[in-house]
Amino acid sequence: MKFNTKAIHSGQAPESRTGAVVVPVFQTSTYAQESPGRHTGYEYSRTQNPTREALEACVADLEMGKHGVAFASGLAAEDALMHLLSAGDRVVCSDDVYGGTYRQFERVFRKHGIDFQWVDSSDVGNVERALAKGTRMLWLETPTNPMLKLTDKSAAAAAARSVGALTVVDNTFSSPYFQNPLELGADIVVHSSTKYLGGHSDVVGGIVVCRDDELAQRIRFVQNAVGGVPGPWDAWLVLRGVKTLGVRMQRHFENALQVARFLEAHPKVERVIFPWLESHPQHALARAQMKGMSGMITMYLASDLEGARRFLEKVRVFTLAESLGGVESLIEHPAIMTHASLPAEVRASLGIADTLVRLSVGIEDVSDLLSDLDAALAVV
Ligand SMILES: *Cc1c(COP(=O)(O)O)cnc(C)c1O
Repeated sequence: MKFNTKAIHSGQAPESRTGAVVVPVFQTSTYAQESPGRHTGYEYSRTQNPTREALEACVADLEMGKHGVAFASGLAAEDALMHLLSAGDRVVCSDDVYGGTYRQFERVFRKHGIDFQWVDSSDVGNVERALAKGTRMLWLETPTNPMLKLTDKSAAAAAARSVGALTVVDNTFSSPYFQNPLELGADIVVHSSTKYLGGHSDVVGGIVVCRDDELAQRIRFVQNAVGGVPGPWDAWLVLRGVKTLGVRMQRHFENALQVARFLEAHPKVERVIFPWLESHPQHALARAQMKGMSGMITMYLASDLEGARRFLEKVRVFTLAESLGGVESLIEHPAIMTHASLPAEVRASLGIADTLVRLSVGIEDVSDLLSDLDAALAVV
């Protein structure tokens, strides 16, 4: 089956007792047993829940994987993956990751003896050199947040495999609609389903997908043993969002491409970063490994912090808010908002300047988005 069919049907057969077409919200903590230890396969909702299972099966299928394991947030999903490691293990990571990922690795797991080496993975040579020192896991985000740098996933995953390291790809920014890292050699895909998967800015969630049975069993063990599971309502909301993922992503892409071209031609904008613009340094790689791009655009204003502030206060259709991937357009200032958890010198080295603005282009009518930006840029 193809993508949109899977989004609507995978893991979502009509419910067996009533024929309910939509997977019900199994809002229960426990399940009746016929005799001690004789049960239906469901004992306790941290361990098994049918609504969560439907979501896990659906996203696993969309990612061309076999096993999905859902969590209460994207960071809870990442935490579960870190629990696959032990003290003394080493992780090589893309240097321009989501701020919360950086914070979790550096401030939670480093003190448990896990070592993180940050590299600019857009040059695979950097990844190969870092891997050579004995590494258990390669952690990639591509495109990165907020600089939208790409990593050649096939080459990086092959390098990791050759030294026995697992490759994890945070695929939040593309969604499974535009790229499937497992198809290019990654072992594990992780998502913040708060973003494009849920798609409506009304739920926080995370999910991990892999193919290997033994690896899935280890992740599922952590899901149950540590317990960062999503509630059935949240699982249901994400699953409801996933049904329209394909149509939403197509529209995000169309709108973002028009917005990116408009901004690139605007005199108040110094530089636009969007992988589908010919000006993006990795445009060819984007076309080779992705089917399209989500609504994420980053730009430098031809101004200063005050100009950026005036611009961000002026937008009306775009909402000034953290997060991304919902149907509504959002805009934010990474240095003050999403990436404030990075030390100032790290921000500076990555290029997260005071004039940097990140857009999550939604699925509104694009003419309204363009006139909103045009009006707000006039005050810069
Ligand atoms: C938001 C985000 C996360 C963290 O997910 P939460 O659901 O907020 O915990 C991780 N990676 C990326 C790329 C994100 O955008």
